[in-house]
Amino acid sequence: MTPERIFPMVKLYEQKDVNELDDSSASTSKAGSASLEEFFSVGDFAAAAHQAVKRLADMLSGDSLEGVRLQRPADLMARARNLMVPADRGRFDLHRFSEILDLYLETAIKVNSRGYMARQFSSVMPVAAVFDMVSAMVPQPASYYEAGQLPNIADRLLEETLGRLVGWPHGRFEMVTTSGASLANMTAVLVARNHCFPQSWNGGLAAAGSRRPAIAVGEDAHFSVTRVAGIIGIGQDQVVRLPLNYRRQICPAGAAAALDSAAFCGLDVFCVIASAGTTSIGANDPLPELAALAKRHGAWLHVDAAHNGAFLVSDRLRPRLSGLELADSFCMDAHKTLFVPALCTLLFYKQKGMAETAFPQKDSYVFDPFEDEMTAVQSGVKNFECTKRPAILNLWLAWSLYGRHAFADKLEHLVTMTGAAHDYLASQPDFLVPHRPESNILCFVHRPAGVDSRRLSRLQIQLRDRVRAAGQYLLSKVDLDGRTMLRMVLMNHQIGLHDIEGVVAEIRRHARDILENDATESEQMRLFRLQPGE
Ligand SMILES: *Cc1c(COP(=O)(O)O)cnc(C)c1O
Repeated sequence: MTPERIFPMVKLYEQKDVNELDDSSASTSKAGSASLEEFFSVGDFAAAAHQAVKRLADMLSGDSLEGVRLQRPADLMARARNLMVPADRGRFDLHRFSEILDLYLETAIKVNSRGYMARQFSSVMPVAAVFDMVSAMVPQPASYYEAGQLPNIADRLLEETLGRLVGWPHGRFEMVTTSGASLANMTAVLVARNHCFPQSWNGGLAAAGSRRPAIAVGEDAHFSVTRVAGIIGIGQDQVVRLPLNYRRQICPAGAAAALDSAAFCGLDVFCVIASAGTTSIGANDPLPELAALAKRHGAWLHVDAAHNGAFLVSDRLRPRLSGLELADSFCMDAHKTLFVPALCTLLFYKQKGMAETAFPQKDSYVFDPFEDEMTAVQSGVKNFECTKRPAILNLWLAWSLYGRHAFADKLEHLVTMTGAAHDYLASQPDFLVPHRPESNILCFVHRPAGVDSRRLSRLQIQLRDRVRAAGQYLLSKVDLDGRTMLRMVLMNHQIGLHDIEGVVAEIRRHARDILENDATESEQMRLFRLQPGE
């Protein structure tokens, strides 16, 4: 279809809102069955895209306080089922399209709202999202140069730019992109395993003989890290837990003792995994000390910097990653703290040449026998994934347009705001804030006067649920050392101190309600001489 034929169609939809369209207009709800041509109609694409852009622009420019509206799964199932065309063959219907779009937006966590304070995923830089659609429409599987020329070049450009920020010498390190930090962590541990147990790719762990390959992780490591032990056959019994200090960082002295005792028990720790930005509170482990410790034990040091790795882009925050340059590998999630569409993870290796040792296969259809200038820049053999979205382009595009400071400014703002939230909460007599935030994650406990400590954890969960149900704010919770805390992750740069005051007022209001209810219940139990649980 030529542009002359498409644009009038878009014009039609520009002039009318979908709600005003009657069933006879354009290609909506025509009787009869659709042809193959229609399923791939350019006009329908343009109309749908126009509709989506309008809805998204409305959403982005709104300023209401919203968390998430949870629906009962059975109700949502019924609503969704109702939107499915009843026959096996349908036609494009802009009404149906819009209703599906609206249902998706309605049930979403409102990451663009100032009420969203819950999780590590963020709204994205809008232009990056546009490019995500473009790359969906023009697929360039990013693993092979022939199929994904620009994605492989973008990989190399960001590799160079970010690796230089680590402080590594030009041309000596390398980076691959993966779909998520879970996969990046697994890939890095595989490289470490193949490095320390070269026979294991073919011989399996049995090739280690009487040695028992093990990994060591901090008590607060992300679950994807410990899961690796199960996936690659090390086994959970061979995961050494490194104790934390009062700031919930791995404690170097405790870690040294744990590694010595593991060695004494016959464990061969080949990989130490530290965190830069733990999921629970955003803590950064002491990397220089852990690098020295790993070296002493002949172990690889991998840093799971999924959350705080983005500090690299900020001159002010980068010093908090000191020691990262000593790691053998680290990963960072651009879909978290660099604000691009998921999934986009960068996995760095200090030494060039390591990446291809993760999956040392030589299958003829992926490997050309001779490396040329094109195969030299591609990542295929270094990756678990075969077909892979070129998500790196979203990051490269935003970086190309706005430069490093766009990311740095937002991240610095979020970290500053989280510090201000900490100071505010710490100044309130009925809030406990055990950790000064190193990042944009803050954990706290609401403790109204007179509530005893056994009641506190359940109260926090009730508060999380009540605040969520009220619909204006969204918080998460975390369990630390058997105590439940509320958890705030600030990912939206529009959040100000008045929003923190707002959520605090909301928490107090629900707590009063819950405790009054408690009092009424125990009064009733006393009156009817009931025992709790009867
Ligand atoms: C989010 C996160 C992960 C998991 O990353 P995905 O990209 O969701 O796979 C791993 N480690 C840490 C520290 C994280 O914050």
